[in-house]
Amino acid sequence: MTKTAAAALGRPGDLEDREISITTPLPGPRATRMIAEAKVHLSPSLIHVYPLMVARAAGCMVEDVDGNVFLDAQAGVSAAATGHCHPQVAAAMAAQATNLIHICGTDFFYPAYGALAGKLAEHAARLESTVTGASPHPWQVFLTNSGTEGVEAAIKLARQHTKRAHLIAFRGGFHGRSLGSLSLTASKSKYRKHFGPLLAGVHHAEYGSLESIERDLFARTVNPEEVAAIVVEPVLGEGGYLVPKREFLAGLRAMCDRHGILLVFDEVQSGMGRTGTMFAAEHFGVIPDIFVLAKGLASGMPLGAMMARGSTMTWPPGSHGSTCGGNPVAIAAALATIGLLEGSLLDNTRAVGAHLRARLTTELAGVSGIVEVRGLGLMIGIELATPELADAVALGCYQRGLLVLECGDKAIRISPPLIISAAQAETCAQIFADACRAAA
Ligand code: PLP
Repeated sequence: MTKTAAAALGRPGDLEDREISITTPLPGPRATRMIAEAKVHLSPSLIHVYPLMVARAAGCMVEDVDGNVFLDAQAGVSAAATGHCHPQVAAAMAAQATNLIHICGTDFFYPAYGALAGKLAEHAARLESTVTGASPHPWQVFLTNSGTEGVEAAIKLARQHTKRAHLIAFRGGFHGRSLGSLSLTASKSKYRKHFGPLLAGVHHAEYGSLESIERDLFARTVNPEEVAAIVVEPVLGEGGYLVPKREFLAGLRAMCDRHGILLVFDEVQSGMGRTGTMFAAEHFGVIPDIFVLAKGLASGMPLGAMMARGSTMTWPPGSHGSTCGGNPVAIAAALATIGLLEGSLLDNTRAVGAHLRARLTTELAGVSGIVEVRGLGLMIGIELATPELADAVALGCYQRGLLVLECGDKAIRISPPLIISAAQAETCAQIFADACRAAA
C-alpha cells in the first residue's frame, strides 16, 4: 500500500512492509496484562491457541500490543483473503458505510445484494459451462452472516426441495457449530460433546470413500431415496487439509444423480480463491447442486452465501431469511474482494502457493517427524508424526514470529493471505522448518 493510501485510511502505511520483529518475551507485558483482564469476561469456549493480543494488521503482517510484528500464515482462519485492511476493501466499505449500513435484504431490495448475487452466479455459471460444455443454468444466491448459517441454509433448502429428511456428511468434515451444521461436523468429538441430541437423520461416511456410503449407509442404515443431500468439503479444511482424489468427488456427483440426491460443496474454507481457482470445485471438474461460501468471500467481514441453480432454489417466499445476512457494508467488502480475485490474486495464489509448497517440501526433507506436505494453492497442510509435535511446532512458529494454526489430529495448516509475496513465502518456509527442527 502507498503511504498516501494508508494515511487516507487513518493508519500508518509501514506495517505491511515490515519484517518479523519480536522484541519482548511472548506474550509481552502489555499483552499479558490485557489478556488477563479480558479473560475475566470472555466465554471460556473460545480457544486462543496462543496468547496473541493483536493491535493492528496490514497486508500479511500483524502487530501485537507490545509492538511485536508477526508474519500471518493463517489469515484469521483463512478469512483475510486479500490481506489485512486491503485499501480497496477498506475504501469500498467506508464508501458504503456513508450511504447505507443496513436495511434488511430479506424484506427490501438494495443494489449491493443484487450485485453480489449476480457476481457469484456469474462465476458459478462460468464454471458450469467450462465443465459441462453446455449453456449454464441461472444460479441464485441467499446471503448469510457466516459459514455455519450458509450450511444451515443448504440443509433447509435440500430438505425443502427434495421433501426428503436424511443427510450424509463425512468423518473429518467441519461445517460449523450451530446445531444443524454441527450435526454434520465430525472432525472432533469435543465440538459435539453434550450438545445432543443433534439433528435426526444425519449419517457419516468415510471421507474419500464412495464404498463407505454404499456399504455402510445405503446397504444398512438409510435408503438413498430418503437422502436429501450429501454435504462435502471438496478439500478437507479443519479436518486436516486433505485433497481427495478426483474420482471421489466425481463419484459423489454420479451417485447423487443416480438417486436424486443434492450434492452440496461446503467451500467456506476452500472457496473464493484459496486453492488458486475461484472455487475448489474447478480443480476436480465437478459441479455441485449447492455451493456454500463464507470466510474469504468478504475478506473477513461477516458474510456467507448459499448458491444453487434456480431449478433447485424452489423454496417459497418466507421459508428462509436473515435480518443482517447480506449486510451492505459486508457486500461492499465482498465485491472489492472479488474484483481483486478477478485481477491478479488468483495468479498470485497459484504461483506463490506452488513455490511455498515446493520450498516447504525441500526445507522439511529429512526433518524427523514430518509425514507429508500437501495442498492446493495457498491451502497447504503439513502432517506431523504426533499431536504433541504439531502443538510444539505451532507454538515454536509463534515464538519465532510466524502465525500458523493446527488442523486434523496432528497437522499444521498454512493459509496466508492470498497477496503473500514470494519473499514472505520464503520466510514462512524457513521459519516453519526451524520450528520443526527445534521441536523434533
Ligand atoms: N464450513 C467449513 C468448511 C469451515 O471451515 C467453517 C469454519 O471454519 C465453517 C463451515 C463455519 O464457518 P463460520 O465459522 O463462518 O460459521
